[in-house]
Amino acid sequence: RQPIVAIDGPAGAGKSTVTRRVAHELGLLYLDTGAMYRAVTWLVMNSDLALDDEGAIALLIKDVEIQLTSPNAVDLPTVVHIDDKEVTTAIRTPEVTANVSAIAAQAAVRGKLVQMQQQWGEKGGIIAEGRDIGTNVFPNAELKVFMTASVEERARRRWQDLQNQGRDDIDLQQLAQDIQRRDELDSNRAIAPLKKADDAIELITDDLTIDEVIAKIIELYQQ
Ligand code: C5P
Repeated sequence: RQPIVAIDGPAGAGKSTVTRRVAHELGLLYLDTGAMYRAVTWLVMNSDLALDDEGAIALLIKDVEIQLTSPNAVDLPTVVHIDDKEVTTAIRTPEVTANVSAIAAQAAVRGKLVQMQQQWGEKGGIIAEGRDIGTNVFPNAELKVFMTASVEERARRRWQDLQNQGRDDIDLQQLAQDIQRRDELDSNRAIAPLKKADDAIELITDDLTIDEVIAKIIELYQQ
């Protein structure tokens, strides 16, 4: 099979932008696994089910179909369909973001989505981004990177992104708290928690530009 690259790390570390651009540069398929957990969260929120009704959620997603399409423009997010509904922007709302960790902690949800990810990655030639790619989804990946930054820096970047999108009503402290809460939930769950794989290379990005991070990953890939 072709090589596999795993990019993991906490919320807001810049994984998506970096992974998308590295995929483009290296001609790899970009797999945004967070988008899949978000899509399932959206589906549950738009059903009659309670978020903690694991049994019913397992049934709901038994035959779910998720389609991820990378747009031609490198900086646009993955186009996401779940059971033929387009949810590209709907999965990025603060409401979905607030609930996604609870859904992503459920065994049936992880079982289903990890199986899809492994199927898509069977032939390699893929760079996957998430929380458990190096530890659980593709433990044999040729290159594993764990991207982090301080909570303050990650909140500041998110705030700036939102600002650029015309959202000037966002409180920086609140953003930092939300990010920290999500990291704690993701790190402390029983199944495949957010964790650096033993053989992953840690990139602390507080003092690095996006271009520097991209260059570093490409260099590591080519070694
Ligand atoms: O990366 P993103 O912020 O889109 O991920 C959303 C959420 O999906 C994470 O906070 C986490 O709860 C879950 N997730 C996960 N495993 C992955 C990717 C995302 O549990 N591989």
